[in-house]
Amino acid sequence: MASKVKCPICDNASVKHAFPAEAFFSCDHCGHYFRVPEKNIDYRLQLGRNKNNPWHVSKIENRSLWIEPFLKPHAKILEIGCAEGDLGAKLLEMEPTLQVDGLEPSQDAKIAGQRLGTVFPISIEEAVSSPERVCDYDLILAFHVFEHLASPRLGLVQIRKMLAKEGRILIEVPSGLGGSNHIPIDRNPEHLQFFSSSSLCLLFERAGMEVIFLQSGYVESLVYDRCTRLIAQQATPASRKVEVFTDYFTEYLGPKFSIYGIGGMFWQCVEPYIDPQHLEFLFDADKSKQGTNVLGKPVLAPERLRVDELRGPILVTSIDYEKEIIELLSQKQGLRSSQIIPLSTLLEAQLHEP
Ligand SMILES: [Zn+2]
Repeated sequence: MASKVKCPICDNASVKHAFPAEAFFSCDHCGHYFRVPEKNIDYRLQLGRNKNNPWHVSKIENRSLWIEPFLKPHAKILEIGCAEGDLGAKLLEMEPTLQVDGLEPSQDAKIAGQRLGTVFPISIEEAVSSPERVCDYDLILAFHVFEHLASPRLGLVQIRKMLAKEGRILIEVPSGLGGSNHIPIDRNPEHLQFFSSSSLCLLFERAGMEVIFLQSGYVESLVYDRCTRLIAQQATPASRKVEVFTDYFTEYLGPKFSIYGIGGMFWQCVEPYIDPQHLEFLFDADKSKQGTNVLGKPVLAPERLRVDELRGPILVTSIDYEKEIIELLSQKQGLRSSQIIPLSTLLEAQLHEP
C-alpha cells in the first residue's frame, strides 16, 4: 500500500507498509525501515536505564577498546546519550587529559555530570532548537542513538555543528530491521529507525560527510547481537585531497629528487602528484623505457647514475621489486641508505593514525 509518508533518509515518496496493521514502513531505494511514532517518547523521566543490564560492563569495555586509538591527549569528546557516563569515565581512566562531555536527556544526566565534564541534560533533537554553542569536539560518540531519532537528518545537522573541522563521529546502531541474527523485527517502542548499510551511509553522505569505516556484526547484547559501526568525518573535495597529497610529496622529497622505476606504481601514485621542476633524473632498467621522454626528461639506464650528480634522494617507485632495487642502488651504485626513499615508506608515513 502506498503512503504519503517519505523515507526519512532518502526522501523516497513510494515507501510501503512493511507489514499489514503495523506502523513499519520500508524504503526500496535505500533499504531503510522506519516507524512513525504515535506520540513522542519522553526520556526525561527515565532513570538508571543500564543499572541491571548483565551486558553493560562488557559493552563499555568493548566500546572503549574500539575508541582507544582515537584518544589523543587533551582531545575534546562528546558522548551523545551518555547515560550515567560509564563510557566517558572509562575513557578518562585510559587518558586522563581528555575533556569528556555528554548529552543525556534522562535523569541519568545528573550522575554523568558528577563524573564527566559538562553534561547537557537534553536530547540531540532538543539541542537543534537550543541556542548555538561554540563546540569543536574532536570526537563525537553516539552509541545506539540514531535509531531513537524521529529525524536522524536533523540530528546529524546538529552534530556536525558541534564537530571540529578535522573531527570524527563514531556511531553504532542495530543492523537492519531486527538488529539481531535471531529476532526478525525490533519492536522496542523507542526505536524508530532501522538502518541498512546503504541507508546509514546515505544519511552521512547526504549530510556532507565521508564514511571512512563501516562494519556490521558487533554484539551489543543478547537481543541486539547484530549491530553496525560507522566512522565519518567532514567530506573533503577531491581537488583538496590532491593538493594535500601533492604538498606531502614536495615536503617529503625536498626541492630536488630523482626517480627509479617508471612502471605502474609511478603512473598511479607518483606522476600525478609531483612537480616536474623538482625532478632531476629518471631511471629504469627496462630497455624499452630507456630514452623515452617522461615529464620532459629522458629515462636513463641505471648504469648512468652518478652518485655525485644527485642533489637529492632517489625515490624507488616499484613496490614489488623494491628490495632488489635498493640492494642494487646501495651495493653497486654506492648510494647511502639516507639517499634512497622507497615509495612504500613514503606512503606508510602518510597514513593517518589511527
Ligand atoms: Zn530511502
